[in-house]
Amino acid sequence: MREVLPYPKNVYLKFILKNCVYSLIVVKLIFVILSYLILFGTHRIGEVGGMALYVDNEYTFNQDSTLKIVEKGVDYLEQKGFKVSCGINIIFNATEKDHKLRSFFLDSEALATFSPFLKTIVVAPVFSVEKQHTTEPIDRSEIFLSRNLSEVLAHELFHAYAFEKYGFSDFLLKRIKGENWKMEGMAEYVANSSSLKVDIGMQMFENAVYEDLNMDIQKDFFTNYFVGRLRSDYLLTYKNVPFEEFWNTNYDEVTLDSEIRTAFSGKKYGLMNQNNYE
Ligand SMILES: [Zn+2]
Repeated sequence: MREVLPYPKNVYLKFILKNCVYSLIVVKLIFVILSYLILFGTHRIGEVGGMALYVDNEYTFNQDSTLKIVEKGVDYLEQKGFKVSCGINIIFNATEKDHKLRSFFLDSEALATFSPFLKTIVVAPVFSVEKQHTTEPIDRSEIFLSRNLSEVLAHELFHAYAFEKYGFSDFLLKRIKGENWKMEGMAEYVANSSSLKVDIGMQMFENAVYEDLNMDIQKDFFTNYFVGRLRSDYLLTYKNVPFEEFWNTNYDEVTLDSEIRTAFSGKKYGLMNQNNYE
């Protein structure tokens, strides 16, 4: 005689699993649809390193220059030994409205944003319409200082690289463990530029001036972006720590910062002063 099973627990488990699978399929489907919708009103202008470049139909900026800017961004990344291989789309917006829509109103104040699940980088219109010269530094607000588009793209491309290589769990874990400085700092390190001017940032770091920052966004730019870049540069360039080791080590930030301060005040180490390392 056959046994009277399944055991009720398994029924619930099966129900949860079955629904989990369905939910995941639905979520995946939504992302696939969104990644097509986001391209609505754009056209493809070319490809750089396996990435497809799209511009808004209203985009008036020179397309050859746009391709060169992306190539330069990829160069920054490769110079530091990283390469993005998954099929990323980069979209250049022509108007603020389109930029907000394509950023889903989430991070539309940023110069460019990488959406991991859509495998898309959307670029703010300041780069495409308001400024006609690629080499000119761009100020989106007082907080963003003199960054050019290739640097901004290199920053976003590092996020794409990290997401492709280490996945969402790593991305989430880094945030939970308070290691956002590693994610943003590495992106700034790769881009070779900061959201804060280096001399101002170094002065604040040397004097450990954190309390003067009254705005949350400023605090984030200093502690995660600037100090993150400084720590990444110190460990990877000055101390020659291999990247994998750096990425997986849980550093004691206070100890690390005081070590950097000592090296900096002893003129042994200085950010943006890489030729002077002793
Ligand atoms: Zn970032």
